[in-house]
Amino acid sequence: MKRTLIREIAELYPFDQADSHLQDGYIFIEDGLITALGCGEPPPALRMAADQVITARDRLVLPGFVNTHHHFYQTLTRNVRAVQNSKLEDWILHLYQLWQGLDEEMVYRSSLVALLEMLKSGVTTTADHHYVFPQGCPKMIDAEIEAARAVGVRFHPTRGSMSLSVEEGGLPPRSLVQSEEQILDDCLRLVRRYHDRGPRSMVRIGLAPCSLYEVTPSLMRETLRLAEEEDLLLHTHLCETRDEVLFCRERFGRNPVDLMDDLGWLTPRTWFAHFIHLTEDELTKAGRAGVGMSYCSSSNMRLASGIAPIGPLQAAGVRTSIGIDGSASNDMNNMVLEMRTGLLLQRLRDGAGSMTPLQILSMATREGAAVLGRGQEIGSLEIGKAADLVGFRLDTLELAGGLDDPLGALLFCDVKGADLCLVNGEVLIRNGELQRWDAEELEAIIRCQNRNSRKLIRGE
Ligand SMILES: [Zn+2]
Repeated sequence: MKRTLIREIAELYPFDQADSHLQDGYIFIEDGLITALGCGEPPPALRMAADQVITARDRLVLPGFVNTHHHFYQTLTRNVRAVQNSKLEDWILHLYQLWQGLDEEMVYRSSLVALLEMLKSGVTTTADHHYVFPQGCPKMIDAEIEAARAVGVRFHPTRGSMSLSVEEGGLPPRSLVQSEEQILDDCLRLVRRYHDRGPRSMVRIGLAPCSLYEVTPSLMRETLRLAEEEDLLLHTHLCETRDEVLFCRERFGRNPVDLMDDLGWLTPRTWFAHFIHLTEDELTKAGRAGVGMSYCSSSNMRLASGIAPIGPLQAAGVRTSIGIDGSASNDMNNMVLEMRTGLLLQRLRDGAGSMTPLQILSMATREGAAVLGRGQEIGSLEIGKAADLVGFRLDTLELAGGLDDPLGALLFCDVKGADLCLVNGEVLIRNGELQRWDAEELEAIIRCQNRNSRKLIRGE
């Protein structure tokens, strides 16, 4: 059993229910689990028992961040010039043409890029939504899982799907849609092979039809049935743009949330990405059902989709979390910047007091964990929970003079990147350096990603 003591933590924010704040704190970790936590000099027994001691002087430590919406493969098509200034619908129609060239190796490499970039900003648990399966490439999710294992983060891949081609009134080209049978068989295969229901599980599968633009109601129903049978979470994009709402009204004669209600999708096992354009009625309905949502502010600004009404959603009872999203619409994988953007944007929408650092950090930690059904295991630093944590330096030029509120400094000042990061007790970043990867390996990943990106975008 490996025992780690982290001591002299200048500012420790566990994100427990009491919103505690400890100074000169310590955390003791045994076999990936937090078994002691407190202030001041750690008890001698802990000091004696530790195999590894990390001092966190001048560091801010908090739970690792939970990202609830992403598309890792899109790191291959960030910042594509042709759609740099496009709205969602035009952006995706162009990108579908490029994504037809995706394969499993590209998904593996691009997932490494997304995961490592996120890890550097303190993400220790992430979901992903992969819905592009060109013919002959059935193992895209397997490739992502392999990448997440290589990086060492906790992973909630959701098996995306597209069944409604452009010829049938949807958005994707025929070459990227699959039959319902193919989709459901693969969902079940992934669940049987990878879904770990055990405590502190590192991989849990969710089911995620892409959006109303890409799937049929019958696939939504069948996916829900499978999720109930297998006790899985459900995810999709919803209420992202005004055009989507119009599409839904024209095609189904319903608003998106009402349609989800008809389909049986308004349940606590569901979380929606974006969730921007809702009527009062839909908001109440979603809150009453206890659904979750991912707030993806950078992507929503980039595509000019709108601003999610976080305050009203929370007041209605919707469970909120943060989604970095992208990476073709963000186009970075930085959770700290995402929180900063999200906080500022809410203030623009609802006033300066509408969002505090504590509130948005709660969404990125304990509330995100709850949305992924992991609230008992991660999302806060408490005895009995997994040792998923992140530390940031407070003694830098960029934070000098900004320490009146160390927690706020994380979002209002420029923290650069995580100095320390542990997942399940394993140290993945120490002194700002990735521990599992050396410079040569990182260079190879970057070179390969750029080669693959050129191949997709320019056919080179
Ligand atoms: Zn998305």
